[in-house]
Amino acid sequence: MEFVNLGRMHRARHDAPQYGELHGNDGDSASELNILRDVLRMLPNGVTVQDDQGRLLLANDAAAHLQGGLSEAARETFRTGRPVVVEESFAREGARRVFLTSHHPVRIADRNVLLSASADITEQKAFEDRLFRSAYYDELTDLPNRRVIEHRVNKLLQAADVTGFALAFLDIDNFKHINDYYGHTVGDALLVEVARRIGMNLRASDMLSRISGDEFVLLLHPVQSQQEVAEFIRFMLERIKAPFFIDGSEIFASTSIGVSLYPEHGRSYDALRHNADIAMYRVKNAGKGTAAFFDDTMEREAQARMKVEQSLRMAILEKRFCCAFQPKVDIRTRDIKGIEALVRLRDDSGVIQAPGTFINLATELGLIDELTHLVLAEIVKSIDLINDTFGHDTTISINVAAKQAGNAEFMRSFAQALERTGFPKRFMVEVTEDAFVTKTQFQDEILPILRQIGVGISIDDFGIGYSSLSALADITADEIKIDRSFITDIHRRPRSQGILRAIESLAEALGMTVIAEGVESHEELTYLQAATRIRYAQGFYFSRPTFLEDLRSATPLRSESRGSDVSRPVAENRSGYARAAGYRR
Ligand code: C2E
Ligand code: MG
Ligand code: MG
Repeated sequence: MEFVNLGRMHRARHDAPQYGELHGNDGDSASELNILRDVLRMLPNGVTVQDDQGRLLLANDAAAHLQGGLSEAARETFRTGRPVVVEESFAREGARRVFLTSHHPVRIADRNVLLSASADITEQKAFEDRLFRSAYYDELTDLPNRRVIEHRVNKLLQAADVTGFALAFLDIDNFKHINDYYGHTVGDALLVEVARRIGMNLRASDMLSRISGDEFVLLLHPVQSQQEVAEFIRFMLERIKAPFFIDGSEIFASTSIGVSLYPEHGRSYDALRHNADIAMYRVKNAGKGTAAFFDDTMEREAQARMKVEQSLRMAILEKRFCCAFQPKVDIRTRDIKGIEALVRLRDDSGVIQAPGTFINLATELGLIDELTHLVLAEIVKSIDLINDTFGHDTTISINVAAKQAGNAEFMRSFAQALERTGFPKRFMVEVTEDAFVTKTQFQDEILPILRQIGVGISIDDFGIGYSSLSALADITADEIKIDRSFITDIHRRPRSQGILRAIESLAEALGMTVIAEGVESHEELTYLQAATRIRYAQGFYFSRPTFLEDLRSATPLRSESRGSDVSRPVAENRSGYARAAGYRR
């Protein structure tokens, strides 16, 4: 450390160091000065004193690298006589370091000098930068997040010379399936790649942001016309459709895109984003993988959907659900092997709705679990009537959505509820094949629980999901229901006949009972009886799904039942059921 003579160092008593050892004795000012000198020299913070020409009068070790010269802030301090604190960065040993420096104008020994103290805050700054990035940038794709794009759009909207721009909402199709099937590492890699393909050919004034899992928002700014945007997005869709090669797999992906334009489709970020979202939703429903611009009819659709959503929430709250039952029939003896509970909704105006109109929505809205518990509760409530109508040993099937089947928490609570009924062995759970194929806990964790309490497992709608025949080999189920699409006109469709034979022999080898779904005609039934070994079927031909009340109101035709075919073990009331439901004998 180099000391320039600044004149006598004043030693104010109250400023003296508080540590006994450093005190020295009062008279020994020379040794005290030496101590202070050493302290100053070794201070981790840089300390300098400069004159108004920028010459260094003093610099301790931490400031030894400084060359002298007045920075902008230092000059300012001299000029105004007021202290300042500034962040300065210097290159040091090849790396950039950031310092927080305070400059004080002081008068020492009749000279105006600048006393500066600086702390190296490089690490702290780097940490702050990381924090900043994690608050505003997505770690996986390194794209700005929703806050950033919202901020950018708001800035655009506030500008005096705001021009036209487009906001696109992008959602990767079936990403959940891909994630479940290939695993999260591949899913993540796919997201990064898709983001890269979307982000190609963007201008500096455009911005791509990842706003959640598989959703992106793209700002195209400025744009002159809708055609220009349509053209750009068409190329983007093509790029995304090309196969991805990830981790040795060739993966195909597509995105659904909804686009809104400023100012036609909204004048705020929220409105534009909302409308792009609505347009995207339309694309999803119309088969995915394409793009659509927002238009007013979509708004009306969205409102209608909102209404359904509201009434669905109300219906759940008010428990306005009931079950229709459809029998599974032995096609040789016409015995009822079991029944399937099919949920129905009584809407606000009292009209009965089939699940096609609300099951997906209920699943989306997270209401499906409650609904399934309601179905079970209704069955339990009606068990005596069910027994009287269909017999005491028929199985009772309940449908569970694939999404629920993969939800261990729900399935555990549902299994408990089934056990609490006191007759869990009567129940079968129907799940679509997707639940078995995707890598969820269903197969390993849930199935054993259901098995343990004696609940049967049925694969519903088999043949239209994502699984292959070979996947069947890994599935441990008691029953397999062949989807109606294979059964319709089966007597006239050789290809479906072939598929049916394949499923049949596989199921037989695996010890699963086969049920043909959706038998409607005599010809279909005759084909099944003559050309297959399938024993059981369900369908309008035997009975439509029917409410228990409707069955009860039908008068049992005791004598007719006995008289017509005594060989058939149909309970008395069941003949009433048979008549009411149009069940043929
Ligand atoms: P699913 O489990 O495959 O039930 C069979 C569907 O086919 C029923 O439709 C039934 O009415 C209909 N069906 C039966 N036989 C015939 C026929 O011969 N011809 C025709 N055209 N259709 C026939 P529904 O009741 O509308 O139920 C549709 C789907 O909704 C069900 O398909 C099931 O996946 C789902 N679902 C029903 N109830 C519930 C429930 O409580 N929870 C859940 N998660 N899903 C349910
Ligand atoms: Mg079913
Ligand atoms: Mg089915």
